[in-house]
Amino acid sequence: MDKYSALWLSHSSINIFKHCPRAYYLSTIYRDPRSNHKISLITPSMALGSAVHEVLESLSILPTDQRFSLSLIERLHKVWGKVSGQLGGFSDSATEDQYKNRGEDMLRRIMAHPGPLAQKAVKIQMDLPQYWLSQEDNLILCGKLDWLEYLPAQAGLESDDAIHILDFKTGVGEESVDSLQLPIYYLLAHNCQTRPVKKASYWYLGRDDMPTEKKLPDRGKSRELILKIGKEIKLARSLDRFKCPEGDSSCKYCLPYEKILRGEATYVGTGDYGADLYTTNESVHSPVSKIL
Ligand code: SF4
Repeated sequence: MDKYSALWLSHSSINIFKHCPRAYYLSTIYRDPRSNHKISLITPSMALGSAVHEVLESLSILPTDQRFSLSLIERLHKVWGKVSGQLGGFSDSATEDQYKNRGEDMLRRIMAHPGPLAQKAVKIQMDLPQYWLSQEDNLILCGKLDWLEYLPAQAGLESDDAIHILDFKTGVGEESVDSLQLPIYYLLAHNCQTRPVKKASYWYLGRDDMPTEKKLPDRGKSRELILKIGKEIKLARSLDRFKCPEGDSSCKYCLPYEKILRGEATYVGTGDYGADLYTTNESVHSPVSKIL
């Protein structure tokens, strides 16, 4: 099978399609006729998530005794340049400082309570973990897993040579109960490496000192569900049918993309895979006081 003709599915593309086919179209298919590039968005929350994830990802390739020899705050300062200012969708330095401080607090929490990050990790030997969800339907499932903790075999204990999927959360909200993230990550972890998946957890870095374990979903049902959505996406693409279920009312999922189309967003550079990167540049910083 030719991987390049396949439809690649990820948690973010499936998630946005589930919310709205038109938002999926604008974020994954539409090309700006002037540049022939896809369009992409950056927001302060995405910038914070990207910087914190980059710091943590850099630890997983280090031996356990070297992971914290350099302060994680220093590591954050090194990567922050990639998302500083407009590149991170920050409208002003006060907003940027607010987000950067949140990132520092999260990393201070990890340095004080490293938990599973102080244990051995398993690295999947692929830049982008991926596997054929269905060769018959020409569908590939792909996605990066934040962290796989290695659970060694121990005499008398059941945890033998297995892995623990960890997903770092840098946003303020909880992952919704019907989120497909866990089913997708479970399938990826199961199919892209050889050890059994023993458990999975979310770690809300802004509030918790330890990850929160989640019940592993049924793998067979997870595959069926993701395959069903994959087929729906494929059909929508083949019919070029991406209708707004709300009657073009512009809700939160496509509003920023519609702003780009209307010329109301700011171009800030080149994003992933050569897409034109935009910010809608709204300040989230509320001044404590104002001199009138
Ligand atoms: S406004 Fe309509 S098209 Fe846009 S995301 Fe909402 S439901 Fe979808």
